[in-house]
Amino acid sequence: MTLTDSPKLQQQPEQPLPDVTATVAAAREASAWWAGLGYAERRRRTLAWKNAIANGAEELAEIISRETGKPVGDATLEIMLTLGHLDWAAKHARKVLKRRGVPAGAVAFNQKATLGYEPYGVVAVIGPWNYPLYTPMGSVGYAIAAGNAVVFKPSELTPDTAVWLAEAWTRANPEQPVLQVVTGGGEVGGALIRAGVDKVGFTGSTATAKKVMAACAEQLTPLVAECGGKDAMIVAADANLDLATDFAVFGGFGNSGQTCVGVERVYVVESVRRQFLDLLVEKARTLAPGTDESASYGRMTHPAGGDVVREHVQDALTRGGTAVLGGVDSVKAPFVEPIVLTDVPEDADAVCVETFGPTLVVNGVADLDEAVEKANATDYGLGASIFTRNHKLGERLAARLKAGAVTIDSVLGFAGVAALPFGGVGGSGFGRVHGPDGLREFSRAKSMTVQRFKAPLDLLRIDRSERDMKIAKSMLHSLHGSRK
Ligand code: NAD
Repeated sequence: MTLTDSPKLQQQPEQPLPDVTATVAAAREASAWWAGLGYAERRRRTLAWKNAIANGAEELAEIISRETGKPVGDATLEIMLTLGHLDWAAKHARKVLKRRGVPAGAVAFNQKATLGYEPYGVVAVIGPWNYPLYTPMGSVGYAIAAGNAVVFKPSELTPDTAVWLAEAWTRANPEQPVLQVVTGGGEVGGALIRAGVDKVGFTGSTATAKKVMAACAEQLTPLVAECGGKDAMIVAADANLDLATDFAVFGGFGNSGQTCVGVERVYVVESVRRQFLDLLVEKARTLAPGTDESASYGRMTHPAGGDVVREHVQDALTRGGTAVLGGVDSVKAPFVEPIVLTDVPEDADAVCVETFGPTLVVNGVADLDEAVEKANATDYGLGASIFTRNHKLGERLAARLKAGAVTIDSVLGFAGVAALPFGGVGGSGFGRVHGPDGLREFSRAKSMTVQRFKAPLDLLRIDRSERDMKIAKSMLHSLHGSRK
């Protein structure tokens, strides 16, 4: 079972559907105003919005904490990371997207060729609940910095975070609703996609991404899909095990395991497996989920989160896996205590399907080749991590991993590097947020040529001369052929 299969969310009281058509119409008007302001003014205003978010960070952290159940400290870090990205996007939009000259090449040397990036217009962003600010802002912030207006449909579990974010926009930039929020569940998301938006930025589960893509297909609306993961950590025999277990604890149990690029599987070389497990269990044993600031992490945000963990753990144990810390009884809804499993068959859900809870499967491998093969064996391909003191070897292994991002000797190392794009492969989605690719993701490339003078070799005409065709033929061979 995955969270998306769970009927639990549908038990929430019905809300009247928002008028997404009117919202998109207002966004359309705002997008023309915003695009017309130009790079410098948009930068100034995006940074003013950033200041407004920073100035209200304490209040926002409380809202995020209340909606998700994560400690306020975790929510504060989420805000800090988000603002780093927003700052980068605001300050780099011009450099990445402005029109620039490109070489025209030998045949078209009489043309001045330029490439520029233009905003799409209205971008719909549909977000998840686990990082209700950081994650959707990969699309919201970069789309706005690239000159678009945004209509944001947050998760039904975290509407207040989104509403606060849009109010911060209005405080900083009251003239036009460049950022608007519509709240509700999947039906509101579907209506928004069909309301004539120009691009969709979706973050959520792989199963929902397929429905979103089908809705986008109706009007050929382009989509960036940031989906789930089942990230593997690979531990080599020469790894610093203290470091590796620190990061396994952080990546596996932080945010109650509800991190798309959290660690769900560990492949550790057999010769150090026992030592790795002992250290990991010693550290994980000290963790306690709860509601106050001293808690290691909070509750399961999704009402069905504990059920998925229980099912995956039960299945792993039935199939011959061993629990070295916790087990089925660790699920004490809405909290789940840390669970460490080992010797779990590779086709069990706990190894192949996103669990999204504080569980780690630690399986032994004979060598690093086997580790890479197993890490690559799921449908997902979001992130991965490698622990080895030989960083050159780590980089060679990283190149072989099916993942959008790989960290060596840390986990989540890329999340705070605004210049690095983020996104998955395979079942983890396509397209990129963050970095220059993230700005281009929310822009259309527009090519332009200006004929500066008539070419001596005049090929762009119907009545080409025999002489010009003779020269063209000989150029074809001299430029592209192997004949001397
Ligand atoms: P989800 O797929 O259940 O929902 C995501 C969003 O889609 C929600 O806003 C939901 O209301 C909306 N939605 C649902 N059905 C829809 C439909 N038919 N049409 C349009 N919108 C619809 O995911 P979730 O439970 O909110 O989030 C958890 C998932 O998100 C996990 O799989 C996690 O790995 C993934 N995630 C991925 C990233 C990433 O960047 N790759 C980041 C965070 C979370």
